[in-house]
Amino acid sequence: MHFYSVIIPLFNEEEVFNESYKRLKNVMDSLNEDYELIFINDGSTDTTETLVKNTAILDKKVKLINFSRNFGHQIAISAGMDYSSGDAVIIIDADLQDPPELIPKMISKYIEGYDVVYAVRSKRKGETFFKKFSAKLFYRTLKYLTDFNIPVDTGDFRLISRNVCDVLSSLDERNRFVRGLVSWVGFNQIGIEYVRDDRFAGETKYPLKKMLKLSMDGITSFSVKPLKLSIVLGTIIMIIDFLYCIYLIINKLLFNSNIIIHGWTSTLIITAFLSGIQLLMLGIIGEYLARIFEESKNRPLYIVKEVINLDKKIKK
Ligand code: UDP
Ligand code: MG
Repeated sequence: MHFYSVIIPLFNEEEVFNESYKRLKNVMDSLNEDYELIFINDGSTDTTETLVKNTAILDKKVKLINFSRNFGHQIAISAGMDYSSGDAVIIIDADLQDPPELIPKMISKYIEGYDVVYAVRSKRKGETFFKKFSAKLFYRTLKYLTDFNIPVDTGDFRLISRNVCDVLSSLDERNRFVRGLVSWVGFNQIGIEYVRDDRFAGETKYPLKKMLKLSMDGITSFSVKPLKLSIVLGTIIMIIDFLYCIYLIINKLLFNSNIIIHGWTSTLIITAFLSGIQLLMLGIIGEYLARIFEESKNRPLYIVKEVINLDKKIKK
């Protein structure tokens, strides 16, 4: 008999909670194995908390980690891992975009001996062109920038074994990009394809600002290539500058022409271009610096207000 933990982060999900619980329960009951459903209330301001609490009174398999405020999706699933005790752990979104019915297929791969079974989105339904396009671009940029394999078009919907879960819990990075960390730890990994459904109800809880933060976390946590961009750009600009200087000197010496005086437009363009590049490079350095600063403060990853149907153990 196996024991499985399902981790479901919730941020203002009152419209989907009941349906999500029903579908997860159906799937997990059909397996005839022991399981727990760990919901993390990530500082919801609607009735999500009450809904989970009421369900947890009736069903002891339903467990709740109640955050003191909104810490973000990646931190919420990390807390779920810290509190989970299953032989394998399944991470799934609450909005039913990730179909719970795929879980038995993941579990069968786990039984075959895989430590990580990640779900690859072969198609995404009901999302805007911008979201699909930016996601595609992001996953490919990340692949190009990193030296190890982070699978493309793959979110956090996946199964991980106890071994992998324990390794992830022991990492206390603050700006977490969980799907990257899972790839980074190694072990036997396999992908299975699925069609990502439309949200069951409600709006996305990932506005552009959070999406940009997540992608910057992904890139800065797993690549230092952007920091090296200034060397490449600096070298190219230096070579061009050197050739231009030779051209100016030859003009001056042979023809006594002073093209600099007529070069108002070109001077302006060059100055603006170079200032732009310098600010960009400073911004990139700033992104890394801000993350070093945040890590150095060593604050806890999250603050738990209360737990229900779980042991009170604060690992972080
Ligand atoms: N979520 C969370 N904290 C946040 C934002 C989102 O716990 O700050 C949860 C949300 O409730 C959902 C999952 O993360 O279960 C994925 O969010 P969403 O479906 O809104 O993202 P999308 O699928 O649009 O990228
Ligand atoms: Mg969603």
